[in-house]
Amino acid sequence: MPQMTTKAIYPGTFDPITKGHIDLAERASQLFDEVVIAISASPSKQPLFDINERLEMAQISLSHIDNISVAGFDGLLIECVRTAQAQVVLRGLRAVSDFEYEFQLAAMNRRLDPTVETMFLTPSENYTFLSASMVKEIASLGGDVSQFLHPQINKRLADRLGR
Ligand code: ADP
Repeated sequence: MPQMTTKAIYPGTFDPITKGHIDLAERASQLFDEVVIAISASPSKQPLFDINERLEMAQISLSHIDNISVAGFDGLLIECVRTAQAQVVLRGLRAVSDFEYEFQLAAMNRRLDPTVETMFLTPSENYTFLSASMVKEIASLGGDVSQFLHPQINKRLADRLGR
């Protein structure tokens, strides 16, 4: 029998990618042969950075990890998983507040394709409170968010916010 390669898709908006996302990606890279960061176009969320900027920022932030690639998608997540021939959808759980939405998403994806499993990882406790939306809010109010982002991403965020 051919050796099976394990492949996980880590989907999200990544607007922009934070050290919480990076922490999760590093953990996943130890568990799976291949990890794909799948960045959703998410026009309804009115992202601060367009899809190409978010792809580039993820590539910069994850360049130290060999078995990770970055891709964009604008359709159904489960289609993206099928196209990539991945077995697992990976999501992060920070606090109980994430649970309800994540549980619903996992159940819906299982209905759409029962062969795909959703797996959850928790970040280092330094990042359990960290979200991209909080980072944007603090930065827009003039706060220092450099400890939460790759230095180049911190610069891009400051430039975008005109700071
Ligand atoms: P979405 O808009 O799909 O929630 P995000 O880019 O905000 O996309 O998050 C993608 C995934 O990464 C989600 O599963 C989210 O719970 C997880 N995540 C976000 N921030 C962190 C963090 N600080 N630690 C761990 N997981 C996180």
